[in-house]
Amino acid sequence: MTVHIHPSVDGGVRKGTGHFAGGTLACKCRDKQVKVGIKGDIAHNHACGCTKCWKPDGATFSVVAVVPRDNVTVLENGDKLKIVDTSAAIQRHACTGCGVHMYGRIENKGHPFYGLDFVHAELFTEQGSAAPGFAAFVSSVIESGVNPSEMDGIRARLKELGLEPYDCLSPALMDAIATHVAKSKAA
Ligand SMILES: [Zn+2]
Ligand SMILES: [Zn+2]
Repeated sequence: MTVHIHPSVDGGVRKGTGHFAGGTLACKCRDKQVKVGIKGDIAHNHACGCTKCWKPDGATFSVVAVVPRDNVTVLENGDKLKIVDTSAAIQRHACTGCGVHMYGRIENKGHPFYGLDFVHAELFTEQGSAAPGFAAFVSSVIESGVNPSEMDGIRARLKELGLEPYDCLSPALMDAIATHVAKSKAA
């Protein structure tokens, strides 16, 4: 049985150039595309199994990364954007035409990831941005309807692709969250 993770990695993970200068994210509308400019490369790119991230049709995982919020600019047709869930920690600005999430923004200044926006590199019209390096919230794909019996195969495929599977975030990001919590307790 073929295990599908996400169309951008199913044929193998394409490495980034290491010097991606940024580019333009475009939604999937045929006309009046929403375009968002990104300065510089993305960071912490990963496959995500949570139920909130946008994923293309048929994908089991999303592929999502972060960029500093100051590096994100809506260039065209921003009037089509709407926040999916205003009560969520990450406010995902989605195109009302095609449903694609253009960027997710954290407005709570106390949040560990405040200052970072979440973006989907597959929407870049340019090639060469940093490749996904791990898989987060892997067990959560069960919540989207994956049969628990498929999990061994999914984890094996992720490892084969070089995307180490974690059931929360990667150790680097979990450490960043814990550091933030420790610092805010000390303050
Ligand atoms: Zn659209
Ligand atoms: Zn997610």
